[in-house]
Amino acid sequence: MLTVAEALQKVQDCVAALPPRVVPLEQALGCLTAEAIASDIDSPPYDKSMVDGYAIRFADLMDGVAELRFLEEVTAGEVPRIEVVPGTTTRIMTGAPVPAGADAVVMVERSTELPGGAIRLEDQKSKLGQNIVRRAAVMRRGDAVLPAGKFVTPTVVGLLAEVGCADLRVVPRPRVAVLATGNELVEPHNKPGPGQIRNSNGPMLTAQVTRTGAEPVVLGIARDDRESLRTKIAAGLETDLLVLSGGVSAGVLDLVPSVLTELGVREVFHKISMKPGKPLWFGLRESANGRMTPVFGLPGNPVSSLVCFELFVRPAIAQLAGQPLPAEPQYRAKLREPFTHRGDRPTFWPGRRDEWDRGFFGQAVQPLRWQGSGDLRTLVDADCLICFPAGDQAYAAGEEVDVRPFC
Ligand code: AMP
Ligand code: MG
Repeated sequence: MLTVAEALQKVQDCVAALPPRVVPLEQALGCLTAEAIASDIDSPPYDKSMVDGYAIRFADLMDGVAELRFLEEVTAGEVPRIEVVPGTTTRIMTGAPVPAGADAVVMVERSTELPGGAIRLEDQKSKLGQNIVRRAAVMRRGDAVLPAGKFVTPTVVGLLAEVGCADLRVVPRPRVAVLATGNELVEPHNKPGPGQIRNSNGPMLTAQVTRTGAEPVVLGIARDDRESLRTKIAAGLETDLLVLSGGVSAGVLDLVPSVLTELGVREVFHKISMKPGKPLWFGLRESANGRMTPVFGLPGNPVSSLVCFELFVRPAIAQLAGQPLPAEPQYRAKLREPFTHRGDRPTFWPGRRDEWDRGFFGQAVQPLRWQGSGDLRTLVDADCLICFPAGDQAYAAGEEVDVRPFC
């Protein structure tokens, strides 16, 4: 059986970034740019006032006080018509173009309107050029403002809007299909009848997909029969990645691997040495355009699904999006209490971290009381998974173990 590291390596070797596509700016958030972007404007496009105030010739205010003849008022969006000549001033609002002749703006708070309309200004600390941003001080037309390979954040969206980039080439957000399988499953709004349970994996995996930044495609529930599985899986294979839960173990109705194979999905591995998550299935389907669609069959127990998604599906989605995840952070922490681990597979056990002791460097971790892979409730209190290596071992309180942040 493959180790977790070997399996992850296989997944990474099989998944490539999606081909770049042009999308409208509104859809670019969270994507990676696939082209360099140049500005089509100077910014600011004109000498601009930074404050509400009065545009003047600085020479008029040499001794800190001036009484000036009022010319006109310019608000943002207007264009000044009159040149500021010695002894005159124009009232100007934030963002408006500075009139010709003016070389400083005095804040409105330092002004008084005199009877008769003249303006008295008093500003002992004024400087030449104050409160004016010169044309193209931020960027020049033709400047490259963003390289290819940049992650699109809200800030980037704002900059792209400023430079007139309404459509751009990006690595698109992957579309990820989520399909729960099982005859026993009913949707969350239904009360389970005899022998039934609610489909918690569907909504959970959909939420995990959403959190990666990918776009989930919800396929609902497939029954444990070939026809139902075939129809839903075929729909899922139209997306960029398909995640199934359930039906990959050794039960008589665990039909997922054979239906996947039947539909042309080539198995890369089945089963890995870990707990929870041993029955994980991974394969690839070549689509009509020659692209490989990754398919994950996660074990149905909710915590197995959750952990397998985190360990294998999330990195695969990141690779599709052109954003491979950095190596997983692993910390060492001291066990809060003695713990005995039994089993022949490495185990990811839910834990909760805190500081070991005031003034003492390092973290402590409390293994939670956990009923196993069907116990999702305990996972809600966890903020990490404690990684116990294979083999029976009794750990003493204070002994160091590996922990992997998780929530
Ligand atoms: P399976 O992997 O199909 O053998 O399922 C293993 C266990 O997980 C069984 O107890 C199932 O009832 C449970 N299970 C399977 N699918 C889901 C699901 N979508 N939501 C919650 N539990 C599930
Ligand atoms: Mg099942």
